[in-house]
Amino acid sequence: MSNLALWGYWFTTFALFAVLFIMWRRLKMKLWARVLVGLVFGGIAGFIFGGGVAGCADQVACVPASSKFIGDMFVRLIRMLVVPLIFTTLVAGVISMGDPKRLGSLGGRALGLYAITSFMAVTVGLVFGTLFRPGNGMDLSKVSSGAVENVKSQLDIASGASSLTDRLVAIIPENPVAALANTDVLSIIFWAIIFGVGVLMSGEVGKPIARLMGSAAEAVLKVTEIVMELAPYGVYALIAWVISTQGLGILTNLGMLALACFLAFLIHALLVYGSIIKGIVLLPVLRFYEGIVDANAVAFSTASSNATLPVTIANVSDNLGVKKVVAGSVLPLGATINMDGTAIYLGIITLFASQALGIPMGFADYILVAITVTLASVGTAGIPSASLLLAATVFNVIGISAEQSVIIIALIFPFDRILDMMRTTVNVSGDAAVAVAVANWEGSLDRDIFIAKSVQ
Ligand code: ASP
Repeated sequence: MSNLALWGYWFTTFALFAVLFIMWRRLKMKLWARVLVGLVFGGIAGFIFGGGVAGCADQVACVPASSKFIGDMFVRLIRMLVVPLIFTTLVAGVISMGDPKRLGSLGGRALGLYAITSFMAVTVGLVFGTLFRPGNGMDLSKVSSGAVENVKSQLDIASGASSLTDRLVAIIPENPVAALANTDVLSIIFWAIIFGVGVLMSGEVGKPIARLMGSAAEAVLKVTEIVMELAPYGVYALIAWVISTQGLGILTNLGMLALACFLAFLIHALLVYGSIIKGIVLLPVLRFYEGIVDANAVAFSTASSNATLPVTIANVSDNLGVKKVVAGSVLPLGATINMDGTAIYLGIITLFASQALGIPMGFADYILVAITVTLASVGTAGIPSASLLLAATVFNVIGISAEQSVIIIALIFPFDRILDMMRTTVNVSGDAAVAVAVANWEGSLDRDIFIAKSVQ
């Protein structure tokens, strides 16, 4: 049976890949439509050939896991672009501004909007956590000791995190080449900006390197376009794997928590980003989401804003008309420090923990949680499950002990992937919305592209 299932799965996969290919070459369908096809059919194939609602009991023998390598190859291809893309577009962007002072206003505006949207996100999270009370009646004795041990060891690794001042100091790279080699996004941003300013200040002598950086940025963006053509296949393989190994039953196990998260994400994405795009930029919200469909699909299937970054930059500049200087600076910063979905999530699970443990929360606790969650979301790395491991820090401020934190995290851990996929999508959409708003204020938004591209 399992051999038959394997054949069936691969036959279906090849058939779908052939259809996707025809949709591209013959029907000339847009990338976002093909990515959506990959996403939906990956989900269906994962569901049918995996363990259905429950997911595969044996993850190794799980049929759709056999194509995970296609997804892994796709993720590696985009990861490959992160460093060259941030560096070249940012240096070229700074140079194209012609005046280092403009950089200050751009950075200030981006940081201001990031702070406002993050604050709104925590508020939304706390409101939904209070309304839905997902932790009420939770039976914590069910958490197995194996799961607790597993989380403990993961937390030990994560607790190597350094203090805020250490992290600030570390933004200045001792060695820019090492920063590039280690994908230290904030250090790369720092070095790229200073280097760009240096090129500008060199005047005539700096011209050759300015031209070189400009054409390097163009070339890397072209490579990004090539890689993105593979997105439908990569997304298919990743989703098939997630749905088959996790099953959909996970959504019912922690039903209230999943529902509260889902609705909070949706409300935040519609209201907050909707107001930014419609209210501030005065452009249609639907077109905004249409323009970033690829980025959202990649965010959803990889659960990593860092890995999605090249796609976000390409979508925002190609489909939404944001000039490369803004996309290349605001988005890498956003992928590192702006995590609205994460803030919503941390707010909700903190309330979940307090309800499950029967710890009452006063008004002052809410304020404290809001502040800590905002800081924690800034400090969260754009990689899968990063925030769940930081949750203990937030739990701590309302008096939850380390042991209790481990139990709560162990309870959520097995179901985190799907929640992570959703919150990463919100994280990426938030970065894109802020990039559009900042570009608009800076006069770097081509409204014709925004409207025309998405109408087709
Ligand atoms: N996976 C999320 C991201 O990459 C971070 C998180 O765990 O909340 O954006």
